[in-house]
This record gives sequence, C-alpha cells and structure tokens, in this order.
Amino acid sequence: MIGFGDPGIRCSAAGCTRDAEFRVNWRNPRIHGPERVKVWLACQEHRDSLSDYLGSRGFPVAVTALDIELDRVPDPA
Ligand SMILES: [Zn+2]
Repeated sequence: MIGFGDPGIRCSAAGCTRDAEFRVNWRNPRIHGPERVKVWLACQEHRDSLSDYLGSRGFPVAVTALDIELDRVPDPA
C-alpha cells in the first residue's frame, strides 16, 4: 500500500528508493467521487509506468510536478 509515512519524498513504485519528482494524481471512478484525488509519487523513471498502469485500468490520471496539487482529476477525454 502506498503511504506517506516516510518523511522523505520517495517514489511510490515498488522497490524504488529514488526521490519523487512528480505526482501521479488519479482516482477510481467506481469508488471515489470526482472530488477525490489519490496521489502516487513518482521519480522520472517510474512516472510513465505508474500513470500507464492506472490508465490501463480505466482510471482518470493526471501527472503534475511535485509542488502542484490538483483539486480533481480531469476525466479522460
Ligand atoms: Zn521510481
């Protein structure tokens, strides 16, 4: 499970110990309302694989810089 227990800003990919550079913002439309934004943190290397993984499950995904917080994840066009 992804959490923010570590005080460092660590990539959320399994086994990755790099500092995160991006937020992968997403939600599961089946259990989250449009106001919910889940966030995985990602290093440069894992940004695409994490967002592709979520996108392949049909979840809305938006990647932003680490210091940009989204109010909501836009629905896929
Ligand atoms: Zn990583």
